[in-house]
Amino acid sequence: MVHIIKEGKFNANTYLIDAEFFKLEKTLAIYVIENNNSRILIDTGEALTARKIVKKLKNLNLYPIQKILFTHAHWDHIQSYHKLKNLMKDSEIEVLAHLNAVDVLKNPEKMNEFFGYSVDPIDVDVTLKEGDIINLGGLELEIFEFFGHTQDSIAIYDSKNKNIIVGDAIIDIIDHNTFLPVFFGPNFKEEDLLKSYAKLRNLKQKIDSISFAHFGVYTGEDAHNIIDNVEDMYFKAKNGIIKYYNEGLSIADITEKYQENIIPQSKLFTKESIRGLEWNIEQNIQCLKAAGLID
Ligand SMILES: [Zn+2]
Repeated sequence: MVHIIKEGKFNANTYLIDAEFFKLEKTLAIYVIENNNSRILIDTGEALTARKIVKKLKNLNLYPIQKILFTHAHWDHIQSYHKLKNLMKDSEIEVLAHLNAVDVLKNPEKMNEFFGYSVDPIDVDVTLKEGDIINLGGLELEIFEFFGHTQDSIAIYDSKNKNIIVGDAIIDIIDHNTFLPVFFGPNFKEEDLLKSYAKLRNLKQKIDSISFAHFGVYTGEDAHNIIDNVEDMYFKAKNGIIKYYNEGLSIADITEKYQENIIPQSKLFTKESIRGLEWNIEQNIQCLKAAGLID
């Protein structure tokens, strides 16, 4: 039962960096994969943490970065790109993202004004699709389309280290007892999410660790338990939120019920301390409305 949340190297080639969602520690992870002095940064975090991220890269001897790959085009994964690029002027950086992300990144307001965040347009240099291999100085990274959360979500699979980086595509599982569904707008599609879960189950025997954006790396038995249970967790969360909403409860009350009934053992969100969860529940309700699942 290992959940790696500490910053730094966690397998022969991969590093976890805390990108501090809303400046809260251990809520948003970005990753660097390094091989023979080639480095790829997976996601960039929010603009307000750019300076800190560069400092962290330097402290971990992960500077410079040659490639940046976006798992998908939600602002918390892409927004600091321009600031990072300015701060890393001395290095040529290639941008990689799924084919479906190209337009979204060129016009980021489409995806992100839903949440009330602004992002400057980003040009993609290398487009990716299912089955593509990124060769990182001899280390092969395979791309899997994991749609559902968004229609541009990808997972990056490293067969040497048996690690898969999934961004937000599967679930948010911030600690063993705190999980949140990922039906985030505006392009969420449940049928595609269920296909992504099936794809993940097919990969189970090839996976020793799963690296989440929110938050950290689950290894061994933990990783396999998540693969086995993620679909149940998703429906439990979704059905709970819909039920509480249809009872006519306020966002604050739905949040309380979610904590009480769905994640009662959570250490992050307790009866006394629910800050951050309410924001998440509210976003999820907006998305359920946009998807026509509630009125
Ligand atoms: Zn997302």
